[in-house]
Amino acid sequence: MREIVHVQAGQCGNQIGSKFWEVMAAEHGIDQTGSYVGDSELQLQRINVYFNEGQEGRYVPRAILTDLEPGTMDSIRSGEFGTMFRPDNFVFGQSGAGNNWAKGHYTEGAELVDNVMEIIRREAEGCDMLQGFQLTHSMGGGTGSGMGTLLVSKIKEEYPDRIISTYSVIPSPKVSDTVVEPYNATLSIHQLVENADQSYALDNEALYEICLKTLKLKNPTYSDLNHLIANGIAGTTCSLRFPGQLNCDLRKLAVNMVPFPRLHFFLVGFAPLTARSSQSFRVLTVPELTQQAFDAKNMMCAADPRHGRYLTCAMMFRGSMSSEEVEDQMHQMVNRHSSNFVEWIPNNVKASICNIPPKGLKMSSVFIGNSTAIQEAFKRVADQFAVMFRRKAFLHWYTGEGMDEMEFTEAESNLNDLVSEYQQYQDATADEEDISGDFDEEGFGDDA
Ligand code: GDP
Repeated sequence: MREIVHVQAGQCGNQIGSKFWEVMAAEHGIDQTGSYVGDSELQLQRINVYFNEGQEGRYVPRAILTDLEPGTMDSIRSGEFGTMFRPDNFVFGQSGAGNNWAKGHYTEGAELVDNVMEIIRREAEGCDMLQGFQLTHSMGGGTGSGMGTLLVSKIKEEYPDRIISTYSVIPSPKVSDTVVEPYNATLSIHQLVENADQSYALDNEALYEICLKTLKLKNPTYSDLNHLIANGIAGTTCSLRFPGQLNCDLRKLAVNMVPFPRLHFFLVGFAPLTARSSQSFRVLTVPELTQQAFDAKNMMCAADPRHGRYLTCAMMFRGSMSSEEVEDQMHQMVNRHSSNFVEWIPNNVKASICNIPPKGLKMSSVFIGNSTAIQEAFKRVADQFAVMFRRKAFLHWYTGEGMDEMEFTEAESNLNDLVSEYQQYQDATADEEDISGDFDEEGFGDDA
């Protein structure tokens, strides 16, 4: 069995992470005590990807929960699903990171990181054949962002041949008023570009808009956002957890989705979008599921795919439906929007069906897209970074933790490079000569 080790860091990372585990428990028929109470053999067939089988047939999430302050984790532990987790997989400090990436990455977080690595190592050693790691975190704070990316680099160092996947929440001023978030996010992206193999960009800006405009919620809360995120994470992991052919492990997914190592940031789309509290779910047809999951309005990232081109994408349908209809709908979708797909990667759209729908739905669809349009979200962060950094505003909080201004300059140019790489591939055509030669001079990674 090919196992995944899950790590959640910081307030956001822990909040979205534990929501994800609630959804996981429901989908795999596991109750709060870890007992199996499900009704389908399919729920257990690949249960070991995410759960350890403990004593008396108890299923325990292969999850490590960490934070630099105890608050969020205390509430998870005392919550409805708190007893599901292994108690000594909670690793926390007392000091907090004060929304300061430098504290998470270099000072407070660096002190705690060895304790976390010890637990990660223990979990990894317990696996038959570890496929990789996933991290849930925000990029705008201090712990998930600074210490989260420190963990990613430590994991990469110790397990260079395993895949690292991140679910990374992009900050938005619509949701949070902490002014230094663009700094923290840029420093995080700088790390993820080099050290992660695949990153799902979950953008609070887009999630907020979905809550407001599509779900018509007046004052969206984190719980509303996290409900969407948890469905998104569950959707993107469904091919790993249930039997099927397409993208059935992290490496296959990376191979299909990532044509160039640095360009591994994905958009996630989901249909039907539902509010946390809504009871009656409208049943959608395959054409509606296809259309909606591809729709810019359903993307969990503020980047409009119509403004860019898809390098690759994968669509997962869940529920029982006809595979001919799915093939047919996907074919039509691609033909209708052919200019939105780069022509120099033939067959860059994959579709598959997972027979188990999410709880409460008859059918759903999940979309993962590697689109050059994602540069819109990165540009937003880069612009917010640039205006502050030009005046060196708030820099003393970082240099006070021992950081060098140079790291800010490097992070900024790395982010700008990333944006221009997306743009160059957006403009690239099939008959252009020697694309790679051009890009090498720009300092791309090894195999661009
Ligand atoms: P940390 O504990 O130091 O990692 O800091 P946070 O995780 O609180 O990071 C702050 C950023 O995360 C801001 O951009 C917040 O808007 C965002 N954030 C915090 N909690 C949540 C959450 O539960 N859901 C979502 N979607 N975003 C959150």
